Amino acid sequence: MANRPVLHAVENGICFVDTVNALKNSFSTGKTRSLDWRRGQLENLKRMLIENEHDILKALKADLGKCETEAYTSECGYLLSDIEHTLKHLNKWTKPRRVSTPIVAWPGKSFQQPEPLGTVLIIGAWNYPLQLLLAPYVAALAAGNCAVLKPSELSPATSSLVARLIPQYMDTTTVTVVEGAKDEATALLACHWDHIFYTGGEVVGKIVMAAAARHLTPVTLELGGKSPCIVDKHTNLKVTARRLVWGKWMNSGQTCIAPDYVLVEKGQENQLIDAIKKELKSQYGKDPLASRDFGNIVNTRHLQRLKEYLEGAPVVYGGQIDEARPAMSPTIVLNPSVDSKVMQEEIFGPILPIVTVASLDDAIEFINQRPKPLALYAFSDDDSVLEKIIAQTSSGSVCTNDTMMFMTNPELPFGGVGNSGMGNYHGRAGFDTFSHLKTVMKRAFALDAPFRYAPYSKLKLSLLKKLL
Ligand code: NAD
Repeated sequence: MANRPVLHAVENGICFVDTVNALKNSFSTGKTRSLDWRRGQLENLKRMLIENEHDILKALKADLGKCETEAYTSECGYLLSDIEHTLKHLNKWTKPRRVSTPIVAWPGKSFQQPEPLGTVLIIGAWNYPLQLLLAPYVAALAAGNCAVLKPSELSPATSSLVARLIPQYMDTTTVTVVEGAKDEATALLACHWDHIFYTGGEVVGKIVMAAAARHLTPVTLELGGKSPCIVDKHTNLKVTARRLVWGKWMNSGQTCIAPDYVLVEKGQENQLIDAIKKELKSQYGKDPLASRDFGNIVNTRHLQRLKEYLEGAPVVYGGQIDEARPAMSPTIVLNPSVDSKVMQEEIFGPILPIVTVASLDDAIEFINQRPKPLALYAFSDDDSVLEKIIAQTSSGSVCTNDTMMFMTNPELPFGGVGNSGMGNYHGRAGFDTFSHLKTVMKRAFALDAPFRYAPYSKLKLSLLKKLL
């Protein structure tokens, strides 16, 4: 099947034309369409993760100070179960999806036939550097595509490990890892892809979309933003605090779906802060910076950004800094100004603002006045409160009485809405993102009723009116 070659794509003196054309040629041979080939590649990827677990955990420790449990559950383990789920459902996902056929088209069959898009670009982010690069790749592979994987330069240990391992385990005629930063990403974006899947911030998301527009290439943008959390006055405070601490301070708060800030009714804030402090001590000890379970900030530039959020802010807990690691202890600020940077920008770090509101309606209004978040959390004993929040707000995902747990369900598509992104993946949603669901209608020669053909007449028209 012909796949148009890339012609002009030199940016900053870097050119990936040969790389992309080689993958396009490989796709044209049809080898990635074979289900056996896809299964074999998914098995290879699984083997890569299992056989190199030690090196992977070491790289994640070097890049982000991730402890073994977090690194395993949110990266290796996550990917392994993603691959298992994909292998289990691949047959079903690739089958034609039958729909009914209207009487006018009888006898006939109608269905959607998934087909691979071709050669795709996957650009990963640094905070879950393995998962965010390979989970889209699992989906792209399952759907039968060739791919270029571009890991984030801000997690260099994981980037170089992936660049070393992928060629050892995978069919290198169908996948290439391109390491690098802005210049390499720009040169890649200049090429003509069949899909671009980008994970990262909003500013670069716009650059990716503009580059894709030049070739009318579809994009998936997995972005971020400020994910709010409402804590109702009627809630199980102990479990609420425990789950908030888990979701906020995992990976030192550098999670796109971490609760960014908490909204709580005035008068309830001290109780909530006390419960969170107690939980923090129980999970990370009296000195979290000495805890082996508490991660680093990715680099000193990001630590500096976070320190600026605390300048003049009403810090009620934490705020300790370790410049050398670099790291910041779990920090709570109470009622920072809504115009301050910490309330204007995505925090993406271990600072939790607690903002008091007059009522549940005010909390909902607060959220609705701001860009649509990637995730929204709500804690309450009262189901009608949770229902109201779900009905009256818009976000990529909602999780009630917990944080981030929706990520464990591969049946739930993951993605943003509005400024938090477009498109989604995980499980079948990922397979569909990297597939074209081709519309097919199969007709037979029998029953070739003449009423749809010219010359038209009043009788033919009245028959058509009845049938359509
Ligand atoms: P980052 O700096 O790692 O950048 C992401 C990718 O974009 C990298 O591969 C980088 O090389 C590339 N890039 C950088 N500049 C570029 C340019 N000018 N042109 C093309 N590509 C370029 O990550 P980041 O942007 O700091 O990531 C943090 C953001 O990502 C946060 O907003 C977070 O919420 C979001 N995020 C979203 C998800 C999600 O799944 N929705 C997951 C993780 C992070």
